[in-house]
Amino acid sequence: MMLVKEKSRCCGCTACKAVCPHDAIVMRRDVLGFPYPEILEDRCTQCGLCEKVCDFVKAHEPAPSAEEVTLSVYAARNKDNAALAESQSGGAFTALSDVVLSGSGAIYGAAMNDDFTVSHTRAVTAAERDRLRGSKYVQSDMGEVFRQVRKDLSEGREVMFTGTPCQNAGLASYIPERLKEGLVLVDFICHGVPSPAVWEDYVAYMGRKGSIDKVCFRDKTSGGWKVHNETFRYSGGKTLTRETFKVLFYKNIMLRHSCAVCPYHLGERKADITIADFWGIGEVMPEMDGDAGTSMVICHTEKGKALLDEAREKLNMIHVKLSGDFISRKNPNLFRPSRIYKDREIFEKEYAEKGFRHVARKWGDMGWRYKAWQLKVLIRRLTGRR
Ligand SMILES: Cc1cc2nc3c(=O)[nH]c(=O)nc-3n(C[C@H](O)[C@H](O)[C@H](O)COP(=O)(O)OP(=O)(O)OC[C@H]3O[C@@H](n4cnc5c(N)ncnc54)[C@H](O)[C@@H]3O)c2cc1C
Ligand code: SF4
Ligand code: SF4
Ligand code: SF4
Repeated sequence: MMLVKEKSRCCGCTACKAVCPHDAIVMRRDVLGFPYPEILEDRCTQCGLCEKVCDFVKAHEPAPSAEEVTLSVYAARNKDNAALAESQSGGAFTALSDVVLSGSGAIYGAAMNDDFTVSHTRAVTAAERDRLRGSKYVQSDMGEVFRQVRKDLSEGREVMFTGTPCQNAGLASYIPERLKEGLVLVDFICHGVPSPAVWEDYVAYMGRKGSIDKVCFRDKTSGGWKVHNETFRYSGGKTLTRETFKVLFYKNIMLRHSCAVCPYHLGERKADITIADFWGIGEVMPEMDGDAGTSMVICHTEKGKALLDEAREKLNMIHVKLSGDFISRKNPNLFRPSRIYKDREIFEKEYAEKGFRHVARKWGDMGWRYKAWQLKVLIRRLTGRR
């Protein structure tokens, strides 16, 4: 029996699975690869803990009006150029995690596995942490990570957890108050998580062109921080740059259902710190703009501020006050969920029936529709029409 009746009422955080004293919950993937909790009825004692722990369905406040908010934020860039090159934005994550690692703490975040799937994992060395760098634009498999975090905290280890706002909210709800002192939560502004199954099919499709050594969801070396392309590096040295997954991602056609009704806007975040791409930096601080990447860092708690203070020596950092209106124009998901594409249901159905290449041709960049659209944009640009 599924724990939730409606898919949009579950973000897949795994708090219910972790809290169940009888291991009566397993996460089952749907056709797009998104995990949902299923109750093994022969083990369930109806204790109700799984429903109680679920933060996603609790009552949430409406989002604050962007026009009425002024935000204190930091523009941050890691001083270590090698770390910056491997990071998605300005390398704020590396600087923050360096502080926790130096105190023998543990870092949790999303890593790419050898088969290019994405899972949350634990890191206690810089080399292990480096695998967590970079955005992987699919929902990560949480496995047993919530229980591992709790074990670390129970043993007195400091923990920095990084992930989507909903993963952070789920963890915050699962970890008992008495253990929270050693836990620092870091989330990001979240556009939504795309389908793991579509990603896996795409990698398999690109794998027909040779043996893939490395994949990057958004490679800074293919045009800089602001350009979003996937790269596939093959053994033998060949690199292919594509945008099929990016096109489907930004069309909002393969996001998890819960992302359409995400309650984790600015006012409902459970994290101590939010990190993000500092879109629009050139308009407020041209000196911090550039292809290398710049992070936006927002501290929500004293604990978050204290961690950022300790990370300061590794970062070039400038403080600025910005209107909510400015941030909402550049990075709207701090205030509201993404609007889902009208064909979301048809996409899922046709993906299940006809597979990856069909949907990539119909809605991605692989078919004539996309090429016709590109031609239209080009003609408009050349003729000066908008
Ligand atoms: C699905 C997704 C949607 C995003 N949407 C936006 C957005 O709308 N606006 C915006 O400004 N930024 C967004 N980001 C965040 C942004 O891409 C950068 O990850 C962020 O700015 C941190 O950059 P960095 O250089 O400090 O860290 P990096 O060194 O690049 O570290 C990346 C961090 O992200 C975590 N992470 C990576 N992939 C995942 C994943 N699949 N699930 C959970 N955690 C993950 C890692 O654990 C690590 O902590 C999104 C990221 C993801 C994964
Ligand atoms: S706790 Fe998380 S995984 Fe479980 S039902 Fe709620 S949102 Fe879904
Ligand atoms: S009701 Fe209790 S025993 Fe049953 S699945 Fe939920 S947490 Fe587990
Ligand atoms: S948009 Fe909301 S529900 Fe979707 S992954 Fe991000 S935080 Fe979770």
